[in-house]
Amino acid sequence: MSVPRGKVFAFFIDFSAAFDTVNRLSLIYKLSALGLSTKCLDALAAIYKKTRSKVWTKSGYSDCFDTVTGVRQGCILSPLLFTLYVNDLSDYIDVGGFQFNGVWIRMLLYADDIVFVASDHLILQQMIDKLSDYCDLWDLRVNLNKSKVMVFRKKGRLKKSFKFYYRGELIEIVSEYKYLGVKFTSTGKFGSHLDAQLANAKLGLNTVYKNIFYLQSRNVDSYFRVFDSVARSIMCYAAQVWGFQEFEPVEKLLRFFIKKLFRMPYNTPNYMLLLETGREPLFLFTLKLHWSFILHTLGLKDNRFSKIMMQIGVNNNHSWFRFIKDFAGQCGNLQQFDSFNVSSVKPALEDLYLYIVSKKKQDLLDSVMLGQFHPIYKEIKTEWGGEKYFSDNLTLREIRFIFMARTEMLPLNWKPWFPNNNFNCTLCNLCVSENVKHFILDCPILKEFRSRDFVNSSIVSILSGKKTWKLLANYVSLALNYRTLLVDEFNG
Ligand SMILES: [Zn+2]
Repeated sequence: MSVPRGKVFAFFIDFSAAFDTVNRLSLIYKLSALGLSTKCLDALAAIYKKTRSKVWTKSGYSDCFDTVTGVRQGCILSPLLFTLYVNDLSDYIDVGGFQFNGVWIRMLLYADDIVFVASDHLILQQMIDKLSDYCDLWDLRVNLNKSKVMVFRKKGRLKKSFKFYYRGELIEIVSEYKYLGVKFTSTGKFGSHLDAQLANAKLGLNTVYKNIFYLQSRNVDSYFRVFDSVARSIMCYAAQVWGFQEFEPVEKLLRFFIKKLFRMPYNTPNYMLLLETGREPLFLFTLKLHWSFILHTLGLKDNRFSKIMMQIGVNNNHSWFRFIKDFAGQCGNLQQFDSFNVSSVKPALEDLYLYIVSKKKQDLLDSVMLGQFHPIYKEIKTEWGGEKYFSDNLTLREIRFIFMARTEMLPLNWKPWFPNNNFNCTLCNLCVSENVKHFILDCPILKEFRSRDFVNSSIVSILSGKKTWKLLANYVSLALNYRTLLVDEFNG
C-alpha cells in the first residue's frame, strides 16, 4: 500500500494466546449470526462438547485436564474459526483506513495476524481505543510486548510527539516488524528482510551440509536440487511481491553455495561461478514468481480486491509496473501493455521474460570480455550453458580442479590482481610467469605428470576438455600436489 507524500500509521496487533482465549459460547453465537446452518453449528458444538488437553514437559506428558475456552490445538478448522470469530472487528472499528475505489480498507486480517492502518496518528489512536472495547466484549487479550506501531514514510525522522497508548500503556514505535514471515521496514524497502533471509538460508545449508557431502554423489544436479529446496526456497519467500528487483543478498546466496560446493577461492569472479555451472541468476527465478503472481491476479474476477489494487498500481505507475514498461520499451512490445488485461499481458510477459533471460546471459558473457585478469577464459567461454565436466561422472574433487584451472584460479604465483608480486615460477629456472599455461603445458619440473596427449596441444583445447576431462583433472591433482611438496621443502 503506497500513499504519495503521505505517511501510513500502522498498528501490528499480537493477541496473547489468541487461539486459546476464544470464548466458545461467543463463537457459536457469532457463527449463527453469520448464518451457519443448525446442522453445522450442532456438529461444531459436538466437537467442542468435551476437549481435553495435556502438557508435554521434560519428564513426559502431564495428566489430562478439561478445557472450556479456545479453539482446538492443531485442528485444521481452528484458523478458520478464529478468522470468523474476529470477522466483525472490521465492522466494529469504523474509523481510519484508506479508501480505494470507494472501499475503505482499515485493517489487514490474516487469522490472528492483524494490522490497523490510518493516515493520521490521532485516528490510529481512536482505532486502538476501539480495539480495547472489542477485546473486553469478546475476551481477547492484546500482548503489548509484541504489539507495535510503525509509521511508514518515504524518508525523514519521526516526530517525537507521536505517542500511542493501549489502556494507558505506551505502545512501542518500531522501524521494523515481521508480518506473515516478511520483515517490513518503515521505508518500505526489502533490504533488511533479505539480509535476514540470507542468514536463514545459509544456516539451512550449513545444517544439511555434512549430509550433502556424505552423499558423495557424482550427479551435480542433485546438489543443486538440495540447494533449491533448502536455501532458495527460504531466500525467495514472498518474491511474488519483490521479485522484479535484483537484490545482492539473493545472488550472494547462490554464489556462496557454488563456492562452498566446489571449494572455490573466495575471490573467484562472480560471473564465472554462474557461467561455468550454467546456473541462472536467482533474479530470473524471482522475476518468474513475481510475474506469475501478476498473471494470477489478472485472472481473478473484476470485483476481487487484489485485482483492483493491482489496477491502482498500474494507474499510479508503481515500481513493479515501471519495471515492466522499461523492459517492454527495450524489447519493443510496450503497446501490448496499453490495456492491462490477461489476454494481451500473458503473451507479452512471456516474450519479455525471454528477452530478459537472454539479456542477463549476454551481460554475463560480456563480463568475460571485460575481465582483465583471465585472458584464457575469454577463449574458452564464448557461449551460455553449463560446462560438460559437471555432467561427466567426475567426483566433486575432480570437478574442482577443472573449475580452478579453467577460471585461472589455481594457487599459482601468477596473481595479476596483485600487480606488485613476483609472478615467476618457483619450480623451474626459466624466469617466466607461473600462469595456468606454464603450469599445465610448459614447466619442465612437472614434465613427468604430463600426459603424452598434452604434447603439441594448445592450452585452449586442453581446458576445453578435448583431451578428456579426466586427464585434465588427474594432471592438475598430481601436479598441484607435487608443487606443494616442492614449495614446502624449499621454504622449510
Ligand atoms: Zn616452472
